[in-house]
Amino acid sequence: MQVPDIIIAVDGFSSTGKSTFAKMVAKEFSFLYLDSGAMYRGVTLYAMENGMIAPDGAIGEEALKAVIGTLDLHFRRDDGQTSLYLGDRCIEGEIRTLAVSSHVSPVSAIPFVRNYVDGKLHAFSQGGRVIMDGRDIGTTVFPGAELKVFMTADTAVRAQRRYDEMVSKGETPVYEEVLKNLEERDYIDSHRETSPLARAADAFVMDNTHMTMHEELVWVLGVIQGKFGLLEAPSLSC
Ligand code: C5P
Repeated sequence: MQVPDIIIAVDGFSSTGKSTFAKMVAKEFSFLYLDSGAMYRGVTLYAMENGMIAPDGAIGEEALKAVIGTLDLHFRRDDGQTSLYLGDRCIEGEIRTLAVSSHVSPVSAIPFVRNYVDGKLHAFSQGGRVIMDGRDIGTTVFPGAELKVFMTADTAVRAQRRYDEMVSKGETPVYEEVLKNLEERDYIDSHRETSPLARAADAFVMDNTHMTMHEELVWVLGVIQGKFGLLEAPSLSC
């Protein structure tokens, strides 16, 4: 099925499988995939490594504001995978730890951090044919995106998925801590003043608590066919 050069915005709660879904759609239709959460995680890692986050979690906003414009965060494609780089250093692994997860929501609530990330996302997306996941893509970053998906799933199922993902990477997480971090991030993301997590009025909602990836792909194909009137029968790769 030939999908036009559109922007697809995927938003939703933490660990709803947004990036897995977005990567699958990107592969299926040859779209560029951009992970906006990775950018916020990259800024957070930088702040942590440069003494801008105190042990009590207080953020040195002035220090961060002074340097944020100079941060060279960008994506590179290595072996078919998109990874985040800070300058020449691949930070894809470091940004996914629970330590970064525990500071990222307060950092991403700072307006100048959001400005920085939004600017980068716009620069990376020039030309369209992009699928991007985050919390405010369909509401703030690309309010004109031609297709918007809002993902949600049961909280305990989301925590278990995140826990399993960390175990598969060799980490030794405590389930209760993973669940607590998820609930805290959901709360901060939904209640912050600047660009809170919210479903765009024109977003299609997907609750994937009981869905397989194949079912997600069939779902999005149905939405695309319905919205763009593409009648050719899809052939699915998974
Ligand atoms: O998507 P991921 O869980 O990696 O995002 C990490 C954090 O970055 C989220 O918990 C949220 O606080 C923040 N974020 C955001 N806006 C986005 C994407 C992520 O505030 N568009």
